[in-house]
Amino acid sequence: MKPKIWLSSPHMSGNEQSYIKEAFDSNWVAPLGPNVTGFENDIQYYLGEDRHVAALSSGTAAIHLALILLNIKPGDEVICQSKTFSASANPIVYLGATPVFVDSEKETWNICPVQLEIAIIDRIEKGKTPKAIIAVHLYGMPYNVDQVKAIALKYNIPIIEDSAESLGSTYKGQHCGTFGDHSILSFNGNKIITTSGGGALVTRSLKEKEKAVFLATQARDEAPHYLHSNIGYNYRMSNILAGIGRGQMTILDDHVAKRRSNHQFYQDAFKNNNDITFLKEPDGYFSNRWLSCILLSTKTIREELRQTLEKENIESRPLWKPMHQQPIFKNAPSYLNGVSDELFEKGLCLPSGSNLTNAERSRVLTTIKTYFGE
Ligand SMILES: *Cc1c(COP(=O)(O)O)cnc(C)c1O
Repeated sequence: MKPKIWLSSPHMSGNEQSYIKEAFDSNWVAPLGPNVTGFENDIQYYLGEDRHVAALSSGTAAIHLALILLNIKPGDEVICQSKTFSASANPIVYLGATPVFVDSEKETWNICPVQLEIAIIDRIEKGKTPKAIIAVHLYGMPYNVDQVKAIALKYNIPIIEDSAESLGSTYKGQHCGTFGDHSILSFNGNKIITTSGGGALVTRSLKEKEKAVFLATQARDEAPHYLHSNIGYNYRMSNILAGIGRGQMTILDDHVAKRRSNHQFYQDAFKNNNDITFLKEPDGYFSNRWLSCILLSTKTIREELRQTLEKENIESRPLWKPMHQQPIFKNAPSYLNGVSDELFEKGLCLPSGSNLTNAERSRVLTTIKTYFGE
């Protein structure tokens, strides 16, 4: 069997271990400590825009806390992009609220502004104004920030920006992760940088960050004994993992460049293949191209190609199955236009890691070309 080629695997810079060693040497193995603060500062500096960052145990935890900061209660409705990973939507249900799913637009594969407004108007007519909008920059491509924001402002609904897959992407020159009323990042093992597991909440005020950190550290009131007047969570990032994050921040832009070069490589290689198309970057959009995604002309070709790659020990994956198609969410209200269904049928993510070697890329290319008889 040929060695496995992964879709997206962790890629260390070599600097991580010095930060971890520092933590061990100073016995900062307990959670919190200088690496956590250092990592938060590194991200704040990278994002710019005067934001505040709370390092957490996961991106999912960050979405959960963002919803809590927005005071989401049982019975509330929260709009969520249907074409996303389930972690965008699950925290809505943790709080006893109801997700309302909205389909994608063709231009970015992200939340469709037209369907979004239709959904808001219909929910209001049915008696409930949605309490938040979760919009996602899927695979690193920014959603239509201006239009989504304009609609959110029109109806006075806050945005949670799920930037788990889009650290390093920009929209009109501004970093993804700074557009939401609250924004979230993920440092899970497959993301563009990783702490092996982790995430962050990006807030607009220091007060909101402090509230998030308070909730993430068991909501301990100030007292010599343990005193609680809120339900708390154990969601803070540990000082060891933040050390990995500091090392990773030193090579984030290299990872973006490498992932974009993977995408360009596939695009060049298949430019004359009429069965394969790519999502273009609209003007003003800059995608980190976290995953290189292709659309095949039919579902059959997609599935045959996926299996052909699998036989060669090459990991690929259909584009995410939309939430409105997931068994667990089948009863949730959804506002659909067919775009995400079609993307799920015809889309495939190809190996995209920043550590992908030229030899590995060639193996993927040869396998695909052989399938098409080229
Ligand atoms: C990975 C991911 C998350 C969740 O992040 P974790 O750190 O794995 O909890 C949320 N939303 C999207 C779109 C993701 O890809």
